Amino acid sequence: MAKVHNYSAGPCILPNEVFKEAADSILNFNNLNLSLIEISHRSKDFVDVMEEARSLVKELLEVPEDYDVLFLQGGASLGFLTAAYNLMGVNKTGGYLVTGSWAKKAAKEASFMGESVTIASSEDNNFNYIPKNYELGNNIDYFHVTSNNTIFGTQIKDFPKTDLPLVCDMSSDIFSRKINVADFDLIYAGAQKNMGPAGTTLYIFKKEILGKSSVPIPTMLNLKTHADKDSMFNTPPVFAVYTSMLTLRWLKNNGGIVNIERKNQEKADLLYSEIDRNNLFEGTANIEDRSNMNVTFTLKDETLKETFDNMLVDANISGLKGHRSVGGYRASMYNALPIESVQVLVDVMKKLENK
Ligand code: PMP
Repeated sequence: MAKVHNYSAGPCILPNEVFKEAADSILNFNNLNLSLIEISHRSKDFVDVMEEARSLVKELLEVPEDYDVLFLQGGASLGFLTAAYNLMGVNKTGGYLVTGSWAKKAAKEASFMGESVTIASSEDNNFNYIPKNYELGNNIDYFHVTSNNTIFGTQIKDFPKTDLPLVCDMSSDIFSRKINVADFDLIYAGAQKNMGPAGTTLYIFKKEILGKSSVPIPTMLNLKTHADKDSMFNTPPVFAVYTSMLTLRWLKNNGGIVNIERKNQEKADLLYSEIDRNNLFEGTANIEDRSNMNVTFTLKDETLKETFDNMLVDANISGLKGHRSVGGYRASMYNALPIESVQVLVDVMKKLENK
């Protein structure tokens, strides 16, 4: 079969060896002659998977001792609500940096048990930049940011420094670059980009935040419920956790975060330099805020669209269509996308120019 260059924004490309091992586990897991998805989540074989997954997160991101790591369900969209419930304090107000549609959705959830305040927003320019130089004020209990804006192709390069609890939705760039976990009180991320298949959501948080919320929290949304049971309060999404664990093993065996960050930078440099060089194309994000994960760009001359789209199909490039709120193209270049796939795209862009 011809290789497909998969630029899907999520669910997205994962390493081929992960797909193979995950597929094997469905038929015969750990030589038990049983499938991974038919054994008890309380069996030693599965508890070992959960523990290895949690410990790989700690190792890869150098998570400090006073933090906990959980694999839960509900997607990052439930993370919006979970974050607000668990961090509401005396002001009953969350502060939000509104840098895209996901950030906006996160902000909305705080209003179910408290108030949500927009500290700064880039909606005035269709979210093509990351606001800077804003004041947090002293009436908010926490400050929520989105590290990478999957739809608009922007990424926070320097996280804000604040004494307030800092919360971050890292769904679309976790494990893609070095972060200092100690700067955050809570990080959450849907698995389906750099970590694994859809179905599980990673939470990393300072243990100290547990039990301090000023509002009553429904059982399943209380991080303490899950922390007290080592991420096994109820049946975990076993396949999603296992496949995430395999992806994290792959990352560790391939040089960890330092190596993947370098590769991601090389891929981003390759594509952005072509967008800037080639007169037919234009990047949509503010240059200093450009995402290394989701590269958004347009054709300056829309009449070339059909020709370019056909050339993409011929080159076996899939998933490049931009989100409807930006238009144009979006190249999602998550960890498992090889630089060879980026070169194929760049070659097509050059070919269009030469036509
Ligand atoms: N936050 C960001 C940054 C995202 O990219 C997405 C989805 N792609 C979400 C939140 C929502 O994630 P989920 O579909 O897991 O709820």
